[in-house]
Amino acid sequence: MDLNSVAGRPENIDAVLDGLEKLWGNEGIPPMLAHEEPLDGLMLTLLSQNTNDKNRDKGFSALKARFPEWYEVAGAPKEEIENCIRPAGLANTKSARMLEILGMIHRDFGDYSLNALRGWDAGRVKEYLSTLPGIGAKTIACVMLFDLGQPAFPVDTHVARFCRRMEWVEEKTMPEKIQPLLENWVPQSRYLGGHVNIIEHGRGICKAQKPNCTACSIKDLCPFYNRSGAPD
Ligand code: SF4
Repeated sequence: MDLNSVAGRPENIDAVLDGLEKLWGNEGIPPMLAHEEPLDGLMLTLLSQNTNDKNRDKGFSALKARFPEWYEVAGAPKEEIENCIRPAGLANTKSARMLEILGMIHRDFGDYSLNALRGWDAGRVKEYLSTLPGIGAKTIACVMLFDLGQPAFPVDTHVARFCRRMEWVEEKTMPEKIQPLLENWVPQSRYLGGHVNIIEHGRGICKAQKPNCTACSIKDLCPFYNRSGAPD
């Protein structure tokens, strides 16, 4: 399919993705999946809600150190799970969701594993994951892209901000509306590289408060910069 014929596809999108790839160096398909067990990726992303990567990782590591297997988490008292994941914040809510998800997965697959999803098509995976409590569009897309190697373009705060500054979407467009647009506009082979490069750009240069436009190698392609120049 010729993506250029897709309605609303931004004219500069290929050049922007090329520029980011040149700058940050992340390309296409991952050399390996992030986790052997997709459930690890799901729970890690659940823990990442409303916190930073460092605190998420602290909570996840403490949980894995105390309960190396998911069946052990499923059989653990909620308070113990809460104590482990406390560094990631919202421990009460996240531990409850974790236990609920584990119960549903065991009911559906007879095991504390999401490996069965590897044989499913992307639409069915998305539909199943969206039945799990507390699991939204970004988490689903992350698990699909990083843990199952399936096509999805996760949209977090950095990706959403970048798309708005590029004027690919309107200022108030929500991440869950941006995701299907990007999935229509970007070739699937560029989902992973595009996602990671935009996040690195958002963390390193195109920051929320004060984007470093002067140092940005794609500024000539950027409507935000061309409209207002570099912020003081
Ligand atoms: S020019 Fe500025 S606003 Fe545009 S992408 Fe670069 S850092 Fe972001």
